[in-house]
Amino acid sequence: MSRDEVLASQNRRLRALGVRVEEGPAGRRVVAERDFEAGSVVLSTTPLEGVLLPRHALSRCAHCWRRREKLSRCGACQRALYCDRACQRRGFVAGHRFECKAMAELFSLDDGVAVDVLVASRVGRRLLHTERQTSCYSVVAATALDARGMLLWHDGDAPAVPESWAALGCDGRALAAGRRNNFCVADEMLEGIAAVSSPIGALLNHSCAPTCVVSYSPAAPDKPPVQHFVAIRRVRCGEELTHAYVDVGAPTRERRAILETNYGFRCECARCAASWTERDARLEGTATLNAVAAETEAATALRTNADLLERALLCDDDDEEAHILEAAAEALDGVVSPDHCADTWNPRSPFLRP
Ligand SMILES: [Zn+2]
Ligand SMILES: [Zn+2]
Ligand SMILES: [Zn+2]
Repeated sequence: MSRDEVLASQNRRLRALGVRVEEGPAGRRVVAERDFEAGSVVLSTTPLEGVLLPRHALSRCAHCWRRREKLSRCGACQRALYCDRACQRRGFVAGHRFECKAMAELFSLDDGVAVDVLVASRVGRRLLHTERQTSCYSVVAATALDARGMLLWHDGDAPAVPESWAALGCDGRALAAGRRNNFCVADEMLEGIAAVSSPIGALLNHSCAPTCVVSYSPAAPDKPPVQHFVAIRRVRCGEELTHAYVDVGAPTRERRAILETNYGFRCECARCAASWTERDARLEGTATLNAVAAETEAATALRTNADLLERALLCDDDDEEAHILEAAAEALDGVVSPDHCADTWNPRSPFLRP
């Protein structure tokens, strides 16, 4: 199977939704084929596989991921807990029958590794299963093809895996591709509860100023939740659809470092490529501010602040001094957060009250 065949199949399905996937000099990307209003769902897809994060193993059902007061344990491994017999049966069919014996070993690993191995194993077993089937075109075949596409486009390493993982169906390539492409499903309190493999969702590239955010609709009893990409501003026909792989509230340096470590690329999006911004000043705090302030608007604010503080120091009149100090604080408004003013004397700063 070639990349072109995968793209053709995906585009047959995606074009019906008003988007397409294309491969250009800068790599693969998803593009809008029509305008989308802010708040509209641009793309919905059902993840291929998903597993509960081990840290929730005692409080949530291993199959439907719902939080329950009372859960019953798998008697064999003692590590997978379920709402009831129905969930246990579905969970068994969905993968636990292969994983039960390996749970003790997997739970001794780091949470993130255990989840990556479980998701990669499920994807691997599904691919093996569809290879054995003779049906030509079906939903199952299409989702398997999308998963193959995800592996085809993975150009990173493919580490050797221990025999016990390979026995589950997890190979190095699926594991490495999953690490870069898996999504974390969060609950209504934005706490991560599960990891899912979503080969169609994984087609969207990252941007620190994205066009879309990811959300999930509640799970049907025997399926992972549906994944939605929602436009957070108006998206024009021809624009690339992106979402943020990292917290966009983090400063540029931090975002770039996480993207390089976890996803293997240096972000050159408009926000990262822009020169040091006022927003980063507020996010990073005073040390960075002082280092780069000379180039920015913040420098003027800091200078005004310093001048006013000097005047306040020389002032004999209490009322006038209070006014000057107030003006010094105002000079920093909108440029420097009070929380980041520890070494810029600011009467509103909680750190440095005289
Ligand atoms: Zn359940
Ligand atoms: Zn078990
Ligand atoms: Zn960026």
